[in-house]
Amino acid sequence: MGAVKASPQSQLRLLDLADLDAELARLDHRRRGLPEVAELARLEARATQLKDEIVVTETELSDLAREQGRAERDVDQVRARIDRDRARLDAGQVAAARELATLQSEVESLRKRQGDLEEIVLELMERREGLVSKRDELAAERENLGTEIAAVTARRDAAFKEIDEQAGHASEQRAQVVAEVPADLLKLYEQIRDARGVGAAALRAGRCEGCHVTLSTVDLNQIRASAPDEVLRCEECRRILVRTPESGL
Ligand SMILES: [Zn+2]
Repeated sequence: MGAVKASPQSQLRLLDLADLDAELARLDHRRRGLPEVAELARLEARATQLKDEIVVTETELSDLAREQGRAERDVDQVRARIDRDRARLDAGQVAAARELATLQSEVESLRKRQGDLEEIVLELMERREGLVSKRDELAAERENLGTEIAAVTARRDAAFKEIDEQAGHASEQRAQVVAEVPADLLKLYEQIRDARGVGAAALRAGRCEGCHVTLSTVDLNQIRASAPDEVLRCEECRRILVRTPESGL
């Protein structure tokens, strides 16, 4: 690695490259950390939950409707039987006192049964009303959620577009800079960037701008003695240390 040599101009281009890479990393970080992304995940989770709740409520409603239908048919049957018994009583068809008493007591117990069944029907109707309003509330929430999801999606997409435009611009600039950097220097830069996130830093006022460590007099003297085309590395952070007019040498 120590064998890599490059003109001071090429080395300075690495600083532009590092700036552009920092910009691209910042944009990538911003894209992934957009509050709209987290917000959408939350809203969509609620939408899924809501869908399930609506299915459960609809199922309960149709079960209840079936149950109510059954109870109503029972009421009709009991009522028909009461009518039949009463018709017999009214027509004077039953003469025997014993039979008469039996029939009258049957009508009485049928009336009680009818009352109980009607009570059940009422109770089922009430439960159904409760479920219908619950379902309506869920449906209204789903509608609001849909509107909210659309709005957040639009905001997210607008932010994505802006970020992608900036990233596209930075990538274009990067390609231009890369074209001006010799292959071996670029390779070294990329290797360090892969390992450390940042490939090159400027030496400014005796300090490495990458790790902000001030170089010792010995190190600075060594740098002063180095040929301009020698590619230097920061002893501290191992990044390519690029000499600038403000290096303080
Ligand atoms: Zn450093």
